Amino acid sequence: MSATLLAVGFDLDYTLWDHGDFAASFFGAIACELGGRLGCSGRRVECVLADTLARLTLGHPRLFDEALLRMGVEDPGLVAELVERYHRHRPPLRPYPGALDELRRLRNRGYRTFLVTDGLSDTQRYKVEALGLRPWFDELVFTGDFPRILHKPSPFPFLLACRRLGVRPRQCAYVGDNPLCDFEGPMRLGMLTIGVPTGPFAGRPSPPGHPPERLVAGLGELGGLL
Ligand SMILES: [Mg+2]
Repeated sequence: MSATLLAVGFDLDYTLWDHGDFAASFFGAIACELGGRLGCSGRRVECVLADTLARLTLGHPRLFDEALLRMGVEDPGLVAELVERYHRHRPPLRPYPGALDELRRLRNRGYRTFLVTDGLSDTQRYKVEALGLRPWFDELVFTGDFPRILHKPSPFPFLLACRRLGVRPRQCAYVGDNPLCDFEGPMRLGMLTIGVPTGPFAGRPSPPGHPPERLVAGLGELGGLL
């Protein structure tokens, strides 16, 4: 265990599991029904949704608007219905291979662990349970419980995790995948920031935002860094 680090925090989506699985599962679940309503095949609906997602990135506020437009449909009511159903979607989920092992190893080495995740709180809480992650975290901060200004990249949720754990930010590391929102807040507090190349930003030559101080090839390398 590092002499100065006491706690290790994690982002959730694309850091501990492939969030793309969630969208793919939703698209598959609604494809046939939506195709029937739109007068096209379920296969076409699924392909257009997946292709639109690939172009816009997950969490894009106009994902369903754009996909429906590409199928010749402009229907705000249907978009609202799909968004609402997307947030209520509850598929079985799997963490990245080795993610639970790494959390277990960190805990066994004496580190406290915490989660800071953006997104709708109900959905994020469901993911944590469905992924089997709950037993491996000492503290969980769901920023959806707070006003938008306190979500990432605000330092607030990271400071809150520290307060709850009774540690100083400089005694923490935070692991994430997204340079747009994962690293600025913890960096401003003096946390060590560590990037994993497992999200939509992986492989981009010059990703936007704030890069992490350290990069690892995967969660399995954390042990060698901390
Ligand atoms: Mg992420």
